[in-house]
Amino acid sequence: MPENIVILGSGCAGLTAAIYAARANLEPLLLEGSQPGGQLTTTSEVENFPGFPEGVDGFLLMDHLRKQASRFGTRFRNALVESADLDGPVHRLQLTDGSTLETQALIIATGASPRLLGVPGEQEMYGGKGVTTCATCDGAFYRDEVVAVVGGGDSACEEALFLTRFCEKVYLVHRRDELRASPIMAERALQHEKIEPVWNSVVEEILPDENGNTRGLRLQNRATGKGSELACRGVFIAIGHIPNTAPFRGQLRMDEAGYLLPESGSQVRTARPRVYVAGDCADSVYRQAITAAGMGCQAAIDAERDLGEAFGVAEPAVADRA
Ligand SMILES: Cc1cc2nc3c(=O)[nH]c(=O)nc-3n(C[C@H](O)[C@H](O)[C@H](O)COP(=O)(O)OP(=O)(O)OC[C@H]3O[C@@H](n4cnc5c(N)ncnc54)[C@H](O)[C@@H]3O)c2cc1C
Repeated sequence: MPENIVILGSGCAGLTAAIYAARANLEPLLLEGSQPGGQLTTTSEVENFPGFPEGVDGFLLMDHLRKQASRFGTRFRNALVESADLDGPVHRLQLTDGSTLETQALIIATGASPRLLGVPGEQEMYGGKGVTTCATCDGAFYRDEVVAVVGGGDSACEEALFLTRFCEKVYLVHRRDELRASPIMAERALQHEKIEPVWNSVVEEILPDENGNTRGLRLQNRATGKGSELACRGVFIAIGHIPNTAPFRGQLRMDEAGYLLPESGSQVRTARPRVYVAGDCADSVYRQAITAAGMGCQAAIDAERDLGEAFGVAEPAVADRA
């Protein structure tokens, strides 16, 4: 027997979808992937998720979501999807452990991984000790501090401009001698009095202070070959994200970067019947816990309705909710 609904991913999108699907009596099966709890488990303090006036630890928040999904009957499996066949009326998933799964509905909430520099110090200080990939999330922690944004595209400029609201000074460290960003973004960033570009520079190491927090960057100038140190308390790495969508290549519409594209007129429905996308795997713009959770909710409600229409699976629950 195929599953009613399989949810891929245990981040904010997947777990929220699971809460809604489970409360609709769909008995969802959720595959947790290799990062149970998703990206938020890598940060210590989340200050912008509604409902927590004092902020909440990222790991704790995800643990609460998991318990909430479990309470209504979500089944969890420690597994990862390798490939998918979404051609037929029943969707087939090939898992990395060699097994297969069949399901009538599928919610893909596999998230995205921020691109990192891969230099010494980065992992040690990532998520709470001065190295981050999200100014919207963490900028306010660096009030009146000197920070550096690494990157040269639109995102890097946006992050740098956002940080000027809090920070005393923002270095924009870029490996070339001009920004890749669109002319208007580049001009806005470069004309801002708090932003100082550091051209032709690659980060070789993120330097810790005596407490293990970030104190600066060790740079190498690509034009002169000279090394230098740049003092800063926060490092915002803005060199892009990689959506975790490889298993669906050739099966679902994606943009050039690999973000899943919903059908026009919907935020979460794809062109395949009863296949939905939610969260950062389909969102290159907002990339927030609350927007991912919102998409997870939408996907589960759409799935519930579509399953009800196709098979009558969820009719009592739909009636209950109304
Ligand atoms: C350091 C850091 C700090 C952040 N701070 C904040 C903040 O303060 N506030 C905020 O709103 N947002 C914050 N964000 C952003 C937020 O974490 C993301 O927007 C959110 O986690 C996206 O949720 P998601 O469910 O779409 O994806 P993710 O959280 O990326 O979860 C994806 C899930 O899919 C699973 N998966 C991946 N591939 C497969 C596969 N093939 N098969 C099965 N499962 C798979 C993974 O294991 C994971 O469980 C932060 C992000 C980072 C990195």
